[in-house]
Amino acid sequence: MLDLLNRPLRNLRLSVTDRCNLRCEYCMPEDDYAWLPREDVLRFEEISALVDVFLGLGVTRLRLTGGEPLLRRDIPTLVRMVASKPGLEDLALTTNGILLADQIEALDAAGLRRVTVSLDTLRRDRFLALARFDELERVKQGIDAAHRVYGRFKIDAVVIRGVNDDELADLVEYGKRVDAEIRFIEYMDVGGATKWSASRVVSREEMLDRLGKRYGAIQPISEPESSAPADRFALSDGTTFGIISSTTEPFCRSCDRSRLTADGLWYLCLYAARGLDLRAALRGGASPDQLRTLVAGAWRARDDRGAETRLALGDRRAFVPIKSLRQDPHLEMHTRGG
Ligand code: SAM
Repeated sequence: MLDLLNRPLRNLRLSVTDRCNLRCEYCMPEDDYAWLPREDVLRFEEISALVDVFLGLGVTRLRLTGGEPLLRRDIPTLVRMVASKPGLEDLALTTNGILLADQIEALDAAGLRRVTVSLDTLRRDRFLALARFDELERVKQGIDAAHRVYGRFKIDAVVIRGVNDDELADLVEYGKRVDAEIRFIEYMDVGGATKWSASRVVSREEMLDRLGKRYGAIQPISEPESSAPADRFALSDGTTFGIISSTTEPFCRSCDRSRLTADGLWYLCLYAARGLDLRAALRGGASPDQLRTLVAGAWRARDDRGAETRLALGDRRAFVPIKSLRQDPHLEMHTRGG
């Protein structure tokens, strides 16, 4: 099933909670938040029913995210419910790692195939300043556990000028030690990033330049078939890393992702103003066929290129003002699922 720009519906990111146990300054910098009403949050049976609809329409890859997905009680049960569904080729989880060491065995036993851990700094004082909780040690334990159970895995790091942009090589070296591929993410002006400014973005070009000065020649890795957001590179010793340049070089043209919030709103773009309310349809008694028709119709009409549209703006500021975020938490990155 293709949209108006011939993009297939392939990747679905399932946000299982809007709660988080960190308050990263690029995502949740405020003191208080409007949370999704508890009764609106989908039960596992409801999520599973919607996953069936998406798998029936061509989705092959699922990623559990949030908020912090490991805060959702009994998440291995959801993993078990979806892991063996026909048509599913990949089942991954993105986590800040704090609760990972405790849960990884149960997640693996339930059928989770891989994890990505987010980690932006290796310095305890910086971690505390950036995320407002002193949790670096538990994240590192989670990272060790990820390697023990899954072997090689990915670590995502958002790079912000003046915050952690002097740690690019340190993170690459850390990745070598723990057998993880580091992916540097450009700071995005998504909803929730109320402290975003263009001057704090470290572009892919600048990251490559800085790493080149430290490591010498950097070779791009050609992966023409890949729809992954990261472009990958290799250092001369064979170490690989990725850069996700959604801010300065968006990949909208090949974007096959969509996002389902914990309360069942379906978003076709991180920058979309509105989502399709699948919870209302499901709880209103829509049949699987009716849900499929609803989802298929929305995808076929999709023509958004949110990150490109943002880039085309000359004077770029935080995407959503704080007042609007208070009125509609669905505009938040931590609700949409990064
Ligand atoms: N709590 C989980 C975690 O930390 O990975 C999953 C949710 S989090 C919203 C998913 C990803 O979004 C993280 O890697 C985070 O760094 C990224 N993210 C959040 N805000 C961002 C921003 N303004 N720019 C770029 N990436 C961002």
